[in-house]
Amino acid sequence: MSTRAIVIPSVGRPSLPRLLEALEGEEVHVVQGLAPAAARNAGWRAVTAEWVVFLDDDVVPEPGWREALDRDLRPGLDGSQGRIVVPVPDRPTDWERNVAGLQDARWATADMAYRREALAAVGGFDERFPRAFREDADIALRMLDAGLRLERGTRRVVHPVGAAGPAVSLRKQAGNADDVLMRALHGRDWRERAGAPPGRRPRHLAIAAAGAAALGAAIARRPRAAALAGAAWAAGTAELAWARIAPGPRTPREVMTMAWTSAALPFAACAWWLRGLAGLRGALAAPGPRPWPKAVLLDRDGTLIEDVPYNGDAGLVEPMPGAADALARLREAGIPTAVVSNQSGIARGLVRHRDVQAIHRRMEELLGPLGPLEYCPHGPSDGCECRKPAPGLILRAAERLGVGPEDCAVIGDIGADVDAACAAGARAVLVPTARTRAGEVAAAPEVAPDLAAAVAQLLEDPVAVLEAA
Ligand SMILES: [Mg+2]
Ligand SMILES: [Zn+2]
Repeated sequence: MSTRAIVIPSVGRPSLPRLLEALEGEEVHVVQGLAPAAARNAGWRAVTAEWVVFLDDDVVPEPGWREALDRDLRPGLDGSQGRIVVPVPDRPTDWERNVAGLQDARWATADMAYRREALAAVGGFDERFPRAFREDADIALRMLDAGLRLERGTRRVVHPVGAAGPAVSLRKQAGNADDVLMRALHGRDWRERAGAPPGRRPRHLAIAAAGAAALGAAIARRPRAAALAGAAWAAGTAELAWARIAPGPRTPREVMTMAWTSAALPFAACAWWLRGLAGLRGALAAPGPRPWPKAVLLDRDGTLIEDVPYNGDAGLVEPMPGAADALARLREAGIPTAVVSNQSGIARGLVRHRDVQAIHRRMEELLGPLGPLEYCPHGPSDGCECRKPAPGLILRAAERLGVGPEDCAVIGDIGADVDAACAAGARAVLVPTARTRAGEVAAAPEVAPDLAAAVAQLLEDPVAVLEAA
């Protein structure tokens, strides 16, 4: 297993080749054609390295970046942030100051490394954040909430100020919609905890409200009210414009841009904030990031191998379609497995314990290591605690793997597998065969067409997500 891999979500900026050159010899994954959070998820889920370093496609690593990264990715740490340097002139424009804010931003993914296990533990980036905004603070807060350790590292990248049109400050107001979701997910004090500056939204809303009130009063032919509200709007707008002009270069062009965008900005902020509020219910109802299972427990007959009733003959073992791919994917992801199987043929005198062991060895010859084998030798009327749908096998397998049953996923082909998983508090995926009853399929919380698809679903591999969509 390599130590680290670098994931670069890219919109195909011309700066990318230069960055790739600077990273020559590293394991690099460039992900294109997806929104930022989805691209980073697709990237880390494709990686087997211990650490995943996220870089933006427009950064330039400073000399010594790799050596500093070696030092930054220490044992005992779950995340390390690179230092971001934004070169700006003495009197930066509004846009330059905006980009320079990255220098103080906490956990910005322009250069942020996370341990892959930590990403799996929190389920990766939250794709309900559609823009390159707040999804970085969101994942960091979830990691801190989970007790993981994040630290500011020593490596440095230069983040140049990209070209932007005069209306960029208005477009950036879309972030107000993401702030609504941030507050719903992380509470009122999220800005403080994420190190985000307080922002001017309360003032923007007040100015927009005054502007709207002035317009309303004018339409209602109430000149005094219109004049009062209009004066409040004008004063607020002037203060905003000056606050943006004063620290800047004060060139005629910048002053003009600040003047007209300041008039529109409070309304843009307000509109995006309202849009965020309107979409909040839907966003909260949509599935958020889901942690990877820490172990996957697999039923045997009809799931890993073809179901031959009361089989005692290892020569008859045939893997199910997708079984080899599914196991390869789980091994690549570093997720341990176990086999959980009802073998009532033993109680019925049709199969011996050593036949079950021989079949397991044959399965491992064909499919590779499967982890611990837990099977129930009892019959349906024995009243044991291990025969599925009882949870015993699941609990025992989880214990042998050193994980909690609630962190396990169970994949099986009948309702008893699903019920055993649920009774143990594990996640269940049903992969039906011709013998699975329709009622069992209907009742299953999750269903997949084959074993490989079930694993892809558990790991939220992008192909599975695209196929489902
Ligand atoms: Mg079965
Ligand atoms: Zn039993």
